Amino acid sequence: MKTIRIHKHKTDSILRRHPWIFSGAIADSTDDLSDGETVTVTDAKGRFLARGHFQHATIAVRVLSFEDVEIDAAFFQSALKRAIELRKSMQLFTKENSICRLVHGEGDSLPGLVVDFYNGTAVVQCHSLGMYANIEHISNGLIAVLGKSLKAVYSKSSDTLPQRADIVDAYVYGKCETPHIAKEHGVSLSIDWVTGQKTGFFIDQRENRFLLGKYSEGKKVLNTFCYSGGFSLLALKHGASLVHSLDSSKKAIVLTEENVRINGFEDRHGSIVADAMEYMKDLPEDYDIIILDPPAFAKHREKRHKAIQGYKRLNAHAIRQIKPGGIIFTFSCSQVVDKYLFNNTIIAAAIEAGRNVRILEQLHQPADHPINAFHPEGEYLKGLVIQVD
Ligand code: SAH
Repeated sequence: MKTIRIHKHKTDSILRRHPWIFSGAIADSTDDLSDGETVTVTDAKGRFLARGHFQHATIAVRVLSFEDVEIDAAFFQSALKRAIELRKSMQLFTKENSICRLVHGEGDSLPGLVVDFYNGTAVVQCHSLGMYANIEHISNGLIAVLGKSLKAVYSKSSDTLPQRADIVDAYVYGKCETPHIAKEHGVSLSIDWVTGQKTGFFIDQRENRFLLGKYSEGKKVLNTFCYSGGFSLLALKHGASLVHSLDSSKKAIVLTEENVRINGFEDRHGSIVADAMEYMKDLPEDYDIIILDPPAFAKHREKRHKAIQGYKRLNAHAIRQIKPGGIIFTFSCSQVVDKYLFNNTIIAAAIEAGRNVRILEQLHQPADHPINAFHPEGEYLKGLVIQVD
């Protein structure tokens, strides 16, 4: 295994256990290293600091361990066991729930790895070539830890590693026909990890959908950016009188309608294919509850200002038009927009709309998307439940 040394004055963040080592911190030439290789990282005097996956990129090393241990099959198995035991302790495998995130990258000390579980199938998404190089170890580790409850492992990294044209999405263990039915809070969802966005479903809104259910009885709801309709289903399950689901993607609406159908909620549901930003300018109907869950408006810091304007506009439209006493569930999954900035943006939207707004709940990502305390960048999903007088 190759070793790279860190500049004398650049070791602080590693000693603080931040899992990313930037290329500028490396003292040695990295020309002879290949993408995905496991490397040992030392200080200028050659003392061990960390071990991780190298890549020719701004984030040059993603640290897997700050201890001097082998990164082998046993390493992956024990890291996966730790991650899965944690999910078991969260009661995420029940008759009512068969969907959860088993591995959340840095939050599980496995940077570059996401594993989502859908009622027997684990969908593995690698964000680094080092993780992809270990897909067999990862799959074997999942089989060893999950035992009979695992029927298939699907590798889905062609979108996240576009630099490698040879990476194809495929089953690495077993096989499961898609779409496949899995459950969240007792509602059935038809999930297709092969053709769907990300790993097939947005698991990170599970607890926020449950909360929406509590507010929904007898209410008329508009769910914008609905994707497969997760929020709509929880509102319908908990007695919403009518739910309209909106997405700009026809495919997403087809998915939503299928999910509404398999739960028997068709008589209280309608769908709209439209651009939410345009549609929200002048709503043709009034609503008691509006959900705003757009995709990340800013993926980089340089885009942050424009993103803020987008969130403000979208929220101002909702605040202006919602029924008196109405409730808005509003979210941002842009990592570069932190919760304070997001709150301020919603306050600015309220000022622009000229109505009184109260913050009822402050929302975030669920516990199966944990945030490594030494990697605050892992906090990305934030939301508010607001009431408009
Ligand atoms: N709320 C969803 C996840 C949203 S993902 C859930 O609970 O599962 C973001 C969704 O926004 C995607 O389905 C995407 O198709 C949709 N989208 C992106 N831009 C849009 C736009 N301008 N108007 C409406 N929908 C949009």
